[in-house]
Amino acid sequence: MKFGGTSVASVERLQKVADRVIKKKEAGNQVIVVVSAMGKTTDSLVSMAGEISDRPSKREMDVLLSTGEQVTIALLSMVLIERGYDAISFTGWQAGIRTEAVHESARIASIDTSLIRPQLKKGSIVIVAGFQGVTEDGAITTLGRGGSDTSAVALAAAFGAQRCEIYTDVTGVFTTDPRYVDKARKLKEISYDEMLEMAYLGAGVLHPRAVEYAKNSHLELVVCSSFSDEEGTVIKEEVSMEKTKSVRGLAFEKNVTKVTLLGLPNNVTAVSRVFDAIAAKHINIDVIVQNVLDEARTSLSFTVDHDVLDETLDVLREQEKELEYHQMIFESELAKVSIVGSGMASNPGVAAQMFHALAGKGIKVKMISTSEIKVSTIIDESKLLLALDTLHETFHLAEEESVSL
Ligand code: ADP
Ligand code: ASP
Ligand code: MG
Repeated sequence: MKFGGTSVASVERLQKVADRVIKKKEAGNQVIVVVSAMGKTTDSLVSMAGEISDRPSKREMDVLLSTGEQVTIALLSMVLIERGYDAISFTGWQAGIRTEAVHESARIASIDTSLIRPQLKKGSIVIVAGFQGVTEDGAITTLGRGGSDTSAVALAAAFGAQRCEIYTDVTGVFTTDPRYVDKARKLKEISYDEMLEMAYLGAGVLHPRAVEYAKNSHLELVVCSSFSDEEGTVIKEEVSMEKTKSVRGLAFEKNVTKVTLLGLPNNVTAVSRVFDAIAAKHINIDVIVQNVLDEARTSLSFTVDHDVLDETLDVLREQEKELEYHQMIFESELAKVSIVGSGMASNPGVAAQMFHALAGKGIKVKMISTSEIKVSTIIDESKLLLALDTLHETFHLAEEESVSL
């Protein structure tokens, strides 16, 4: 069972979490609980570091941010002990969660289950700090924002759990973020592949790596509310319902910036040289479009997160000579809106339908990228809500699912 920040935001809420954990335990299960930092703790730690430095040491950021989860595990353990249960807390390193040596977004390399197993055997409820691990050299690492989901899934997989339940502040995975679209509808089921796309494309309800690990280990993953007993969403291999629908959901990201290099030489190495320069700084680029202008020149556009724009521009400016471009321009305040669904692969008209719908509302599509099960468009951020409403309507996402024969 994993409980996110809102679910553990106060001692009062920890009592409610304890109710759920106790119920699960009393039903005869062995239970491992993974918790996040309380409420907005991680955000306030980030902003304190920001008061000290624009680019604080990544190692120290991990030491700092991992403290949030440590508070929650101890408090939840105390609540359970006070209520007469055997409970014991583990930080990431105490739980044997080994990660690669990458600060701020480490991947879990292995979990030594021998540290927790004796506690489970003797009937204790084990509480583990999410979002953190330790490198072989003993350095504390974190898994990236939202990474407690991944801790939970990785532990569930390592212990051969029956399932992993993610308790959060919504009742499940919706067709799109219910905070943005009133008509968003909770899905009963969604496939690993669709959820993986949704998560990578911005649906913050699950950390993408959590879905990746669940898929790789065929673990049943459930997203449900920690505030109500409503049935949640099951994420699994194959989804039988809604076969008639080609689009399962919409995902989006704000804060997108498009960078364009004009007048690049039209030769075989020009593009790779640009991306090598950017990759050397560990900057992630997303949607890419290249236009051949004439025999000699091309232009290249790509998107980056606004937070790394300055860094990106710096690299490109430094290497203006080597990269041989004429001019660099950028456009901020863009958003990426994506439609996702496995049914799309066998239905060629879906992308056209998307572009028609957006055009019908006067929304200009600035860039496009596709895969078998998604189409992403870059639009003005000011049009985001309109685009989401329009696409939600166009693909009938608010309508109840029907079983196809
Ligand atoms: P937690 O702290 O429990 O991990 P998060 O804030 O990380 O919670 O994730 C839950 C939030 O994800 C919801 O409050 C919702 O605003 C957002 N969200 C984004 N996309 C979706 C979606 N498709 N379905 C449900 N929630 C979504
Ligand atoms: N506390 C971390 C964060 O806010 C990890 C998590 O909640 O999953 O990103
Ligand atoms: Mg989360």
